[in-house]
Amino acid sequence: MTTEVREVIIIGSGPAGYTAALYAARANLRPLVFEGSVTAGGALMNTTEVENFPGFRDGIVGPKLMDELRAQAQRFGAELVADDVTDVELTGDLKVVTTATDTSQALSVILATGSGYRRIGLPGEAELSGRGVSWCATCDGFFFRDQEIAVVGGGDSAVEEATFLTRFARKVYLIHRRDELRASKIMQARAFADPKLELIWNAELVEIRGRDRLEGVMLGDTETGETRPLDVSGLFIAIGHDPRSELLTGQVELDEENYVQVTHPTTHTNLDGVFACGDLVDRRYRQAVTAAGTGCAAALDVERYLAASQ
Ligand code: FAD
Repeated sequence: MTTEVREVIIIGSGPAGYTAALYAARANLRPLVFEGSVTAGGALMNTTEVENFPGFRDGIVGPKLMDELRAQAQRFGAELVADDVTDVELTGDLKVVTTATDTSQALSVILATGSGYRRIGLPGEAELSGRGVSWCATCDGFFFRDQEIAVVGGGDSAVEEATFLTRFARKVYLIHRRDELRASKIMQARAFADPKLELIWNAELVEIRGRDRLEGVMLGDTETGETRPLDVSGLFIAIGHDPRSELLTGQVELDEENYVQVTHPTTHTNLDGVFACGDLVDRRYRQAVTAAGTGCAAALDVERYLAASQ
């Protein structure tokens, strides 16, 4: 075990974690950041153009944006470790964070482990991410002006994404594996009334086509098993998200979908000295800029917490 007690440990390396690290470092809190081993940089490492992060008028590719955020945090002294946190003990005054090779202690912890978009699990899905396959209509809808695209899912967020996408696309197919939607009646009514939106019932994706860009998909009929092609240049997967909160179960209060609960508008969790930010707490906005914003808030909350407990 490393015997030094840090002021703050940050777990997570997306826009929330790096922004928290930047603010904590500039406040002389010497943050220790666990970035994760394979997924350092977070969700934007899997995308191409990011056009809606303020400050880049020509857009910036996701990995470059994360590289800049990382370097900015490092410039002010954030210590970054490319390891996965495997265990935490957060209930005591001294917080203990464990990786495969070491155990560290701190007076406070910022949780910024994000959430994962659920995937269908078909070949091509990951490879064509940012090349026609997307998980975020707000982020990528603009790229599909006057095109034919498809959304997969049947809940509120799928119907909301499909309806939103009709602002840009010429036609939006909403593919659902059953013969009725789970979405609320009001969302359904809006979808049924939208002339650009066509529902494809009892259908599931069986193939994602394309080498460098999405070229189309194959649909399978869930009742007859018959397959048919659908020519679309965009595919939005809207089958849900899972916050990465497994480590925290039994310690930090989670809501019914396992998002960490914080006392809005702060980033305080139910545990003293433990703060949470980014998509780990956010089921509503899920944007890089909102994650960065709450990362900033978490570092400011830590600063005040440490000052008050001196
Ligand atoms: P994440 O970015 O998910 O980062 C969390 C990271 O923490 C993980 O990736 C991992 O590296 C680390 N971590 C997790 N668990 C552990 C652990 N146990 N130990 C150590 N480290 C751990 N938003 C936009 O605003 N504009 C866009 O154009 C846009 N495009 C997107 C494209 C794609 C393909 C995806 C998936 C998302 C996109 N988003 C976009 C959404 C945006 O990426 C997220 O809202 C944002 O990244 C959330 O930031 P975060 O810091 O909360 O979490």
